[in-house]
Amino acid sequence: MSLDWNDLAAGRADALDGSLVEIAGWIAPFAPAERHDYFLLVPEPFCCIGCLPADAGACLEVFACTPLATRSRPVRLVGRLRRLIDDPAGWRYQLRDARLAAGEAERDGGLSRRDLMMTASLVALAAATTAPLPWRRAAAAEPDAARQVIADTIAIDMHSHAGRIIRRGDRFAPVAEPMRRGGMAAICLAMVADSPTLHVMADRRIVATRNPQPGELVAWGRGAFGRLLALAESERLGIVTDAASLQAARGKGPAIIVAAEGADFLDGSLERLDEALHSYRLRHLQLTHYRVNELGDIQTAPAVHNGLTDFGAEVVRACNRLGIVVDVAHGTYELVKRAAAVTTKPLILSHTSLIAEPRALTRLILPDHARAIAATGGVIGIWPLSTAFHNQRAYVEGIARMVDTVGVDHVGIGTDMLGLTVPSVFDDYADLPDVAGGLLALGFNRDEAGKILGGNYARVFAASVG
Ligand SMILES: [Zn+2]
Ligand SMILES: [Zn+2]
Repeated sequence: MSLDWNDLAAGRADALDGSLVEIAGWIAPFAPAERHDYFLLVPEPFCCIGCLPADAGACLEVFACTPLATRSRPVRLVGRLRRLIDDPAGWRYQLRDARLAAGEAERDGGLSRRDLMMTASLVALAAATTAPLPWRRAAAAEPDAARQVIADTIAIDMHSHAGRIIRRGDRFAPVAEPMRRGGMAAICLAMVADSPTLHVMADRRIVATRNPQPGELVAWGRGAFGRLLALAESERLGIVTDAASLQAARGKGPAIIVAAEGADFLDGSLERLDEALHSYRLRHLQLTHYRVNELGDIQTAPAVHNGLTDFGAEVVRACNRLGIVVDVAHGTYELVKRAAAVTTKPLILSHTSLIAEPRALTRLILPDHARAIAATGGVIGIWPLSTAFHNQRAYVEGIARMVDTVGVDHVGIGTDMLGLTVPSVFDDYADLPDVAGGLLALGFNRDEAGKILGGNYARVFAASVG
């Protein structure tokens, strides 16, 4: 149905949540580039990049299926409207899976030479990203084969905030039931250690905007671990503490591995790692998050430590000794290299995906960064951001591309469930059979698919925790 800007401003569009809508407006990008798959649509021409409407109801946050060029005239788009409630970036409506409305391209008056060249390079890029992969064989997905793969492995999500555990004050969301439906055996359920210092910007980047008060993140960590364990109790989730209890999770129903996204709760003290191990049953520690902490540098801020700090190296050794999985997600390549040199156990990089060319301050990684993890015997979890993968099929192809780079023993899944600030193409554990089926359809055999869905993580967990 056709939507008017007055419908948005007056809140009448709330009733259309989930509906397919068509709307005309101006593309207002967050950053300078020729084409954008993430931008705001606004009712009037905007004056400059970064000059965004103050009224969240007077614009639409758009996630487009394919990148669109900015134009000197309004554009008509079709997509699925989503109403946002308490959105961390402050926006009120999203248009997802957006594309040009029928007839819109023709009204452009023909493509310019530059557009044609751009189109040609996009076609070439599309061809490159869909070209047969070396390991790809004939698709042979039998009926129920996907379910069988899941039954034969221990399906594990390497990175999750399911249940809304990081939205303090919010009611818990169901965890056990969708896990059961999809056959997800265990999830690394992560508290977030630096939340009080973080801010979600208008373009959904997360940045640390202040330093913590003395002791603030220690107290915050205790509360956050407490909320995580309260969720486990209310959802009757088993808590995995060793390799045997992880193996048992396959038959006994949904379980969690207590995880921390950021080691900021240590506040520089190794004794607090013991406390987390014993009091909260922490078994998976991600060293850094969006704040440059005492352990090392992060991918999304300029380096200040030249990688892993001496304290960070001490924490890695202590995790090895105590039986805690070390996760280097969010850490810089320099951090990863030193962590790989220090650790005696395989490293995890729980949520990311592969890029071919360097990009400033990206959370995604280059092939050498991925190989540094694999060289420790570790595993990289592929992150289902809609800004990296437009649909679940593309996500599964992204998994395959990482397999091409590091081998099938070193790739897993890391959904970041209920932790993303952008839409996810894997946002419900009940979808796990679709992902398993996608792997089979791409030509992975059942054994390979099982490794990716959790077998590889289980191997690292057993080696690290025992
Ligand atoms: Zn993260
Ligand atoms: Zn996360």
